[in-house]
Amino acid sequence: MSSTLVVHEDVKKLVEELNFAEKVERALRLIREAYEQYGNRLVVANSLGKDSCVVWDLAKRVSPEIRGFIVTTRFKPSETKQFMREEVARYPELRVFSNDESIPDRLYASDPDRCCDERKVQPTREAIEEMGVDCWVTGLRCTEGRTRTDYQEIEERDEGLIKLNPILIWHEREVWQYLALRQIPVNALYAEGYRSLGCAPCSRITSGGDERAGRWIGTSKCGGECGIHTQPLKTNRELVHGQDPSILGRRQERNVA
Ligand code: SF4
Repeated sequence: MSSTLVVHEDVKKLVEELNFAEKVERALRLIREAYEQYGNRLVVANSLGKDSCVVWDLAKRVSPEIRGFIVTTRFKPSETKQFMREEVARYPELRVFSNDESIPDRLYASDPDRCCDERKVQPTREAIEEMGVDCWVTGLRCTEGRTRTDYQEIEERDEGLIKLNPILIWHEREVWQYLALRQIPVNALYAEGYRSLGCAPCSRITSGGDERAGRWIGTSKCGGECGIHTQPLKTNRELVHGQDPSILGRRQERNVA
């Protein structure tokens, strides 16, 4: 594999044509190259799901210094809260953000978009701002569901904020393969049959279909997104360092909202 990212790569082709070892190497290289450029301003968004566990481990292989943040809500299942405590104890460089302001009861049922915006998107914006992030790293994968097919490994959704999706081209089974081979602990809910984890009222065990099919069942948001991958996150549009983010010159192009 070339050491330089190729612009306009066909993501779907990469999903099928690269083998597991090549995908791991590619993900490590993406993080390494971004870390060389952004240093401490590269931060991992850790949702505590299986994909985040992979990305967090990959990032730690690149540098133990890499920081991360977790966005939590009071609606997270007790298993997720417990897993969060364990992860933060293991990795004190993981910071936890939440919005505990009062919102209407059962807003998740009447207006899940607003609930997610208040509980997830706003704390993510706060994390990006407070931690001085210029490049955030996510566990987003293009085979997870209908809303995740149109992404690239390197994006600039907000000007001055690079988003790196190093395992974008991984299959679900490759995520589990990596977790097993590296003996990485995961949230206990996976043993119950969940394939995608969110807040308790909005996550169900499903069979077949998309990985995210159990999210927001019974609402217009079913199988959809909380908003952190679709809403603007950085309001300050000035490049923080005034530097030329050369990684952008190599980024795969995508029409960004
Ligand atoms: S996943 Fe559900 S409970 Fe959690 S923030 Fe979104 S709507 Fe609210």
